[in-house]
Formats: sequence, structure tokens, C-alpha cells
Amino acid sequence: MQDSIRIFDKQFKAYISEAEILAAVRKMADDIAREYRDQTPVFVGVLNGAYMFVSDFMKCYPYPCELTFVKLSSYRGLTSTGIVETLLDLPEEVEGRHVIILEDIIDTGRTLQELVHMFSNRNVKDFKIASLFYKSDSYNGEYPIDYFGMEIPDKFIVGYGLDYREQGRNLRDIYQLNEEDMTNLVLFGKPGAGKGTQAA
Ligand code: 5GP
Ligand code: MG
Ligand code: MG
Repeated sequence: MQDSIRIFDKQFKAYISEAEILAAVRKMADDIAREYRDQTPVFVGVLNGAYMFVSDFMKCYPYPCELTFVKLSSYRGLTSTGIVETLLDLPEEVEGRHVIILEDIIDTGRTLQELVHMFSNRNVKDFKIASLFYKSDSYNGEYPIDYFGMEIPDKFIVGYGLDYREQGRNLRDIYQLNEEDMTNLVLFGKPGAGKGTQAA
């Protein structure tokens, strides 16, 4: 793992190693496996960010299960009210099933709110959220986060599927944005954030 990396205009420092990430993923898979062993759950990965997590998670999950994906596109302007577009919708076969969402990271909870909405009329048997990273300080949703791998502070990270301006998804480890760059980061619908359309 390099000490620091640069993506476009931003400098990032080493934060969480691949080994630590994989340990957290393995633990999530074990916890979920214990509860869902006989249920054949349907895992729903949220593209693009969760692709690497989903891959490692599936390799650790030892019992019968299915996998599908959704893809959401969110507008994150200053007055954004959330997701505007579903780029890849749910297949029909979730009715009556145990569904577990696999997310890369829960931040404000806006994306999650949209996912909950997406499932609200699908008659699933039960619906749980599993997110590898959880920024508990910035979460202001009502929905409980059923499983998470690591709780992290409200600082921007890249790597292991997570991007900065679509780059950095291929990094095996997680890097954190340098402190001095935090203030002018233009990405989210938070104070100081700009405009943009991006896939969650
Ligand atoms: P929320 O809707 O909970 O505010 O944000 C969820 C989405 O925002 C994530 O799925 C991810 O795409 C993006 N996001 C939130 N925090 C970070 C972060 O620290 N790094 C990156 N790369 N994306 C993030
Ligand atoms: Mg992104
Ligand atoms: Mg995501």
C-alpha cells in the first residue's frame, strides 16, 4: 500500500489496508450467513461503488444465495432532494424473498432512502441493509443499518470500488482525502458542495 496517492487535483493518504477490509467483509458474511443459512437470500449490490465489496462478500458467503444489481443515478445539487433516475431496476424475482442490500458506504442516507422506496411495493419477505462503510456522524436517515463492516468519520475516502471523479475504484486499499482538501471538495449535496450528476 502506498503512503499517499494523487487523483486529479486531490491528494489522498493511506487509511485502511486490503487485509483490514477483507477481515471486515469476512465478518459481515459470517454474521449474515448465521442468520440466513436456510433462507436462500437475494443479495442486491448497488452499482457502481459496491462492485468490489460484492465480489469479495460473495466469495465469503458459504450458503445458497442469489445475486442481482441495481444502479441509481443521483443529482447532488445544493437543494437536491435525492435520486432522480433508476438506471438499472430490480428484477421481478424479489417478491416473497429475503433481500439484503449490499452497499459500499452509507453517508447521509439519501441513497438508502431511495432504495427503501424502491422496495416498498415489492412484497419482499424481509429487507436488510449491509454496508461495508458507515459514516454514522453524517447519517440522518431513520432506517436502521442492520450490518456494517466499519464505522468511519465523515471524511471522503477512495479505493476498493469507491471513486473520486470516477477514478480510484481499482485501488485495493482505502485512501482518505487529505485534511486541507476537505473544505473545497465538490461532490455532495452538503454545504460547500457544487452540482453534479453521479452514479451512487
Ligand atoms: P448517501 O446517499 O448516503 O449520502 O451517500 C451514499 C453514496 O455517496 C455512496 O453510495 C457513494 O457513492 C457516495 N459516497 C458517500 N461517501 C463517500 C466517500 O467517502 N467516498 C466516495 N468515494 N463516495 C462516497
Ligand atoms: Mg461516486
Ligand atoms: Mg453506493
